[in-house]
This record gives sequence, C-alpha cells and structure tokens, in this order.
Amino acid sequence: MQIAAAADDSVWRPEDDPDDVAFHEPHRCPDCRAPLTYYTTNFGLSIALEPSDAPAKDIPSRFRWRLHTTTARNSKCVIMLTAVHLGGLEPAPDEPVRPTHRAVCPAPAAREQVFDEQLRDLARSRRRLARPVQDTG
Ligand SMILES: [Zn+2]
Repeated sequence: MQIAAAADDSVWRPEDDPDDVAFHEPHRCPDCRAPLTYYTTNFGLSIALEPSDAPAKDIPSRFRWRLHTTTARNSKCVIMLTAVHLGGLEPAPDEPVRPTHRAVCPAPAAREQVFDEQLRDLARSRRRLARPVQDTG
C-alpha cells in the first residue's frame, strides 16, 4: 500500500494493489491513527469520510460531503455509495452532512486547518451579506 497526499494535505488517497489478496490492516490516519473508511467520489478519487453524519453548522463547507446511494435496477438494494461534495450549496444549519475525517481529526495540524476553513466560511458569508441585492425584475 502506498499513501499519496494531495497538494493541500486534506485528502489522502490509498493505492491498493488489486491483485494483492493478503490480509492488510485498515487504512489509518497518518496523524491520529484512527481507522479510515474511504469512499469513491463522483470524480473517481477516494476520500476518507467519517462513519456518521454531523450537523452542517459544525463542519466547514470544504469538508461537507453527502453519500449518494445507487440501487440495483428494480430493487431497493444499495449496490454503491458515492461521495459527493456539497461545494457551493449552503445546507440548513442542522442539515446532516458527512464530514471528512480531516474535519474531526484531533491532530493539531488538522484543527488548525479546520479553524482556517471556518474563518474562510465566515469571510465568504460576510461578503455575501455585504453584496447589494440585485433587482432582476
Ligand atoms: Zn486523524
């Protein structure tokens, strides 16, 4: 197994050998050693998401994801989960979102990154509120 870091250190992408049938430990966070569950994104990348949802107000927008379920044809059986980033969508404060592990990782570097993203979200909200309302009618 190799672990490659994204340019911004927010996404870790494990690369497993599909022909390797030997037992291996679950992937772990390189900072806090917590076990990670990876999901494939709609862009074909992998991202470590937490096992449960959290209210959107507690998670900076950069770390907000949703799991999209794909069912078998004419069935309710879920055959695939795809991670979709919420991006510019602004969910209601109590709406559940699936955070990345980075958003809840106790490592100091991760906490600092989460704090920076919270400040960025606040600045974005202030800019949006300061923008004059355009009359489209
Ligand atoms: Zn961690």
